[in-house]
Amino acid sequence: MSKYYIFAKEFIAPKLEKGLYIVATPIGNLRDISLRALEVLANADLIICEDTRTSAKLLNHYGIKTKRLAFHEHNEREKTNSIIKRLETGQSVALISDAGTPLINDPGFVLVRQARERGLNIFSLPGACALIAALSIAGLPSDNFSFHGFLPPKAGARKNALEKLKNNSQTLIFYESPRRLSKTIDAMKDVFGEQREVAIALEISKKFERVMRGSLVELSETLSDTQIKGEAVILVSGAKEIELDENIWKNELKNALRDKTLKSSVDEIATKFNLKRKKVYDEALKIKQKKS
Ligand code: SAM
Repeated sequence: MSKYYIFAKEFIAPKLEKGLYIVATPIGNLRDISLRALEVLANADLIICEDTRTSAKLLNHYGIKTKRLAFHEHNEREKTNSIIKRLETGQSVALISDAGTPLINDPGFVLVRQARERGLNIFSLPGACALIAALSIAGLPSDNFSFHGFLPPKAGARKNALEKLKNNSQTLIFYESPRRLSKTIDAMKDVFGEQREVAIALEISKKFERVMRGSLVELSETLSDTQIKGEAVILVSGAKEIELDENIWKNELKNALRDKTLKSSVDEIATKFNLKRKKVYDEALKIKQKKS
């Protein structure tokens, strides 16, 4: 068996520049953390954590003893001023959340905003982020996507939020708790239609990591009689731009043919929708043939 050395027995953390360090931590597997992140956490003057007990597991695992302070959604505004003061006196402060990248559905925005406005140093320590990890394994288009965090828990507000996304052609990404997974998929099926493709990435980087895939109606049925445990990211394929456009221009062509000549109808629609004249002409002939 080959031997690999990931760490020397001890690592000496280099002195840090003063500033705020936004440090991504693992979303499951404790080994998913960068060497640079460990160096920063080991050598910062202070680590601010969403939950000091949760972060203790990671920090103890790597023997990091840096002083910690709780910094969560309920005290973020109140604590921000004192952290800014520390930064202004030249300290290095690392922000971590319970899992993944801080600020991504986690605290930190108020602090980063104020630090930016005051011209303080802010450094990124990139790493795990559930939405990006999910997108990279889901098998849905990954070149154009949008992230929508958690949907509202109440049915009416959730439906309204989904209605606004109905015609969005990007891959849509949501975080969801396992308790609400089934209801959310049902709501998506009602708004987006039964055949929209969906992927649910569960327990990424953990022992029971898996991706459930299918149409919204298929996953709605599966979830109605399966109790899902663990953390989940939902990814829904975008509205089909081409199909939508095709219906729109074909309908307009039909209307134009009612009171205009074939030639002027074709010219009008081809110009309006920036389509090849031949494509519109063929469709116009089809419409005419159907009528006769
Ligand atoms: N800051 C985190 C990030 O960078 O992804 C997200 C924090 S948010 C409060 C927690 C949500 O992220 C969970 O409810 C779940 O939707 C998603 N999540 C976190 N870890 C996950 C994992 N290992 N597998 C799947 N989803 C995960």
